[in-house]
Amino acid sequence: MKQIFGTDGVRGIVNKELTPKLVLELSMSLGTFIDGGTVAIGRDTRISGEMFKNAAISGLLSTGCKVVDLGIAPTPAINYYVRDETDAGIIITASHNPREYNGLKFVADDGIGFSREEERKVERIYSGKNFRNAEWNGTGALSIDDAIQRYKDGIKKLVNVERISKRNFKVVVDTGCGAGGIVTPSLLRELGCNVITLNGQLDGTFPKRPPEPTGEVLGDLITLVKRSGADLGVAHDGDADRVVFVDENGSFVSEDVLLAICAKNALKNRGGFFVTPVSSSLCVKDVVEQCDGELVWTPIGSIHVARKMIELGAVFGGEGNGGLIFPEHQYSRDGAMAVAKILEMICEKKMSQLVEEIPRYYNVKKKMRVIDKKGVMEKVLDNLKSNIETTDGVKIWYDDGWVLIRASGTEPIIRIYAESKSNKRANELAKDGIDLINQVS
Ligand code: MG
Repeated sequence: MKQIFGTDGVRGIVNKELTPKLVLELSMSLGTFIDGGTVAIGRDTRISGEMFKNAAISGLLSTGCKVVDLGIAPTPAINYYVRDETDAGIIITASHNPREYNGLKFVADDGIGFSREEERKVERIYSGKNFRNAEWNGTGALSIDDAIQRYKDGIKKLVNVERISKRNFKVVVDTGCGAGGIVTPSLLRELGCNVITLNGQLDGTFPKRPPEPTGEVLGDLITLVKRSGADLGVAHDGDADRVVFVDENGSFVSEDVLLAICAKNALKNRGGFFVTPVSSSLCVKDVVEQCDGELVWTPIGSIHVARKMIELGAVFGGEGNGGLIFPEHQYSRDGAMAVAKILEMICEKKMSQLVEEIPRYYNVKKKMRVIDKKGVMEKVLDNLKSNIETTDGVKIWYDDGWVLIRASGTEPIIRIYAESKSNKRANELAKDGIDLINQVS
């Protein structure tokens, strides 16, 4: 049976890999899987969003599901709505992928993305085409609701609004023309900030920058932070489940450092479990140890992090890509929640000071094309005896760093990640990884 779901839902180039027919039938599969019920649906700003949303609505209604249309909304706002109101959710988004992509994420009734097992069940229904078919008088009803205000209200309950408001922070926010434009600028205003928006219009052509907010594409944000003398710069990916920051000097804050800053804030004075994928930086490990916390590694993918957090009652979790999970709000990556939390933190210290307190590491990422990635991975594992971890791929621990060798889920590629205290050493470790792959293949 063909695997349709990748690491983060179904993604593809519009009308080539991802078609209305596929979306229709996957939605019918979801409606069949939950056996009728209520499904919330929302989307990011991509041009094809309306087309796919209508296909998904038709599919769900045909199985007898009721559908609530949430319109354009950030992914975490839809997660939050589903947790409280419906039996499942569909988010039409390709997140940080390039402009020509779109995708589907399925959300379970607890507001978290489907587990791999749940996805397999939906794939099985899809392959067998055994859809639940409502009678002529049993097709579902469609209604409209708003997910935005309750999401913002939920965030405001969890931060010290009065304290933040008193500071009148100046914040530049670049939502990249994505769904974050609906939430983050107005949330910041409600928190008493003086807000300058950049790319705040909803535009699925993403005319000014790609949906992924890497440091290299945030030149406008950086310039504007410097020129306006802002306290903070904020940028989201296309569906605003992720967030990155620029400090008051206009320096981009690495996502690993951001993860460590938030982990430190969550664990200080109380310890507790912190959950993150095996690819995350050692700076996070250092910080968690300083706080007498316990770090738990998971496979790569935010769903793994979320599910492990629930299992352990973790106080915080997240990925080194700006995907941060605040369990007091919800077990999903939560861009706007992270913004509010950072504002609370910069009431005490400037962003650049928060960054300085985090130990510095260097990371190198490489990839290699291979024909038989599974065979190569098996041989890599056979060649190694000690100091390895196999939570996801093969991670080799050294005294002064690590190398992670991992097959891509979708491409004929093996990725090599390395980290150490110096750039030179990180490159050496990455080279060790590449040499090992060459040796066995
Ligand atoms: Mg995203």
